[in-house]
This record gives sequence, structure tokens and C-alpha cells, in this order.
Amino acid sequence: MTMKGQSFEAVFGRPAKVVAEAPGRVNLIGEHTDYSGGYVLPTAIPQKTRIEMSPRGDGLVQVATMSVNRGGQRWFRVGEESRGGLWLDYVQGITAVLRGRGVSISGFDARIESSVPLGSGLSSSASLLVALARALRQMLDLSIDDVEIARIAHAAEHDFVGAPVGNMDQMAASLADEHTALFIDTRTLAFERIPLPAEAELLVVNSGVAHQHASGDYKTRRAECERAAELLGVPQLRDVDAAAEQRIASLPAPLDRRARHVVTENARVLAAVAALRAGDLGRLGELFDASHRSMRDDFEVSVPAVDALVESARAQPDVFGARLTGGGFGGSIVALVKRGCAERVGRAVVEAYARTPGRQATVLVGGPAA
Ligand code: ADP
Ligand code: MG
Repeated sequence: MTMKGQSFEAVFGRPAKVVAEAPGRVNLIGEHTDYSGGYVLPTAIPQKTRIEMSPRGDGLVQVATMSVNRGGQRWFRVGEESRGGLWLDYVQGITAVLRGRGVSISGFDARIESSVPLGSGLSSSASLLVALARALRQMLDLSIDDVEIARIAHAAEHDFVGAPVGNMDQMAASLADEHTALFIDTRTLAFERIPLPAEAELLVVNSGVAHQHASGDYKTRRAECERAAELLGVPQLRDVDAAAEQRIASLPAPLDRRARHVVTENARVLAAVAALRAGDLGRLGELFDASHRSMRDDFEVSVPAVDALVESARAQPDVFGARLTGGGFGGSIVALVKRGCAERVGRAVVEAYARTPGRQATVLVGGPAA
């Protein structure tokens, strides 16, 4: 029997005490910069993760998710969290990190439901972690602010789940909204909300390509950035400015290209913030395009199918710019489109993509209103 649609009460035999949500995100620009202490510019998407929760007194945590195959129900004991390579790790990560900060948790029942597609680069993981942390904050009346929530979620994913991710996703899930872009300095976690232009909308299309070794390649890129910073004599690539072109070029390949991507991408985030403030959509679109080229040629995290999707979006009228968004090796593209045109552009792009056998794309944001 499928658990989809089963209410909290149907699963746990009592009502939920608190409800909390957190959105998925799409990154507008600033890719693979967060683990180098750089700048990023994500925004929240309409899809979100919703948690219902009620406390228990016996130290048990029982969790039901409606999002994995046919639903799933698992449990663990607070204080005995251990990594199992499953979705439950995200829940265990949050309780382990909170306990490490001195929070006492006497157990709970939780139901998870999410409209964020899992593993499509829209950060279902961070939205789950942040929604869980918010539910616990509310249920236990914890005085932690939203940046702290992001830090807790990041520690859970990085240290407990064991994903070598930067902190953009958790900051976005905790602090972003759909009407503004969240300009984050990932080194200090200082942030600013920049209003999105009323004349444009976002289109996000999933390529349907998922690279099998994406997490291994991500680790390689991260290590390359760390090595490049070391050779340049700085703590992180964030500390290299674009004027250091010659020194970057003197690095051994491919570290020269990797460093060039991060350094120029940081500069593009700052330029994108300026373009947003000036309402210059043409300039913003150019920066999207330049970011994609840099990810494709210098950072080498794109794949031909994603390049084709980006090209076909760009070829449409009323598109200011388009790029691969998220970690890459497959995943989704984001396009900046004239308001009112995203649905049409999305349809055209999906159709053109399907002309190559075996390719099937899905509009995730900007499609017909649900
Ligand atoms: P992304 O964050 O881009 O969607 P990740 O690989 O980082 O992809 O995270 C996806 C994983 O997060 C899933 O495989 C699952 O373990 C966990 N997850 C996310 N949302 C849920 C959910 N609603 N229920 C259970 N697990 C979830
Ligand atoms: Mg994730």
C-alpha cells in the first residue's frame, strides 16, 4: 500500500503539534564559489518541503516521508544517530548537530512531504534540513535565528550526511524568498535581499541527465580549488582578485582554468547584483551567458545535453540569458525570460530537446500555473 497522501494523524494516531516549511532554491549566478568563500545569488522557488511534528517523551524519533518510493517510515533513538546512507540521515544529522549544541531532545514523530523534486539540483536536501530545524525550533521554543538554522543545516549535511557541500543551499532554504535574490557572502554569511525585476521571470528546465559520478567529480573540483589557492598563496580562491590574471595563468593545467572560473564568477556575481539594482536585464542576461561558458570551458561541469538546452533557450525570442544552474554534470538550466513568456519558451525548449532521441526535459519553474 502506498503512503502517499496519508495524513500525520493516519500515520501516528494523533494530531501534529507544529508545522514548518522551507523552499527549494535556484541559483541565479555564482556557481561552485561557495566552498571557496565566494559570492552566490540564489532565490527561492515555489516548491517546498513541509514538516509536521509532535513531541515524544521516550527518546524515539519516528519519521514518515511521502517523497521516496512508495513512502517510507523509519525510526532511530536520540543519542544513537548513525549514518546509514539513507534519507533518514538528514533527520539524524539535525538531531545530532542540535544535541552537539546542547539542545535536549526527548524524541518526536515527524511527517515529511515535499514538492521539491529530489536530486534535480533544486536543493531538496537543504529544504528538508531547514524545514526540520524550523519545526524543532518551534516545537522546543529554541532561540536560534535563521542564519544559525542555516549553519545547523549545513553542519548536518556536511559533517553528518557526509556531502562535501558549501553553505549556499542551506542559506537559501533558510533566508531566501521568491521575490528577491539572496546575495550571500559565503565566507561571512552576510547577506542582502535584492528585489527581482518585475519585467522578468525565471524558467528552470531539468535536462533529465544525472551524472553517475557527480559527487566524485564535485569532490575533485573542490580539491582542485583548494590546491589552486594553496599554489597562489591564499587561504581560498575568494582572496584572489580578477586582476591576478597572470598569476592564475601560470598555474599548472587544469588548475589555471578552475581558478579562473571561480575568480571571474565571483566578479560576475557582483556585476549581476549591480545589474539587478540598475534594472539592466540585458546585462544580467549577458552575465548568465558568460557564467555558462565559464562553467563549460573552464570549470568543465557541463555536459553536451545541458549545453544544447542552454543554446536552445538562448535561441528563443524574449530570453535575456541562460545557464547551467547547480553543481552540474547534468541537472537543470535557468533562463531569464521576459515576463509572461516563460511558459512559451519552456514549451519550445522541451520540444526542441526531445528531437534528439533519448532526451526528455521537464519544466520545473515557469511552467503553467499548478
Ligand atoms: P538535491 O538537494 O539537489 O535535491 P541531494 O542529492 O542533495 O539532491 O539530496 C537529495 C536527497 O535528500 C534524497 O536522496 C533524500 O535522501 C533526501 N531528501 C530530500 N527530500 C526528501 C524528502 N522529502 N523525503 C525524504 N528524503 C528527502
Ligand atoms: Mg542537495
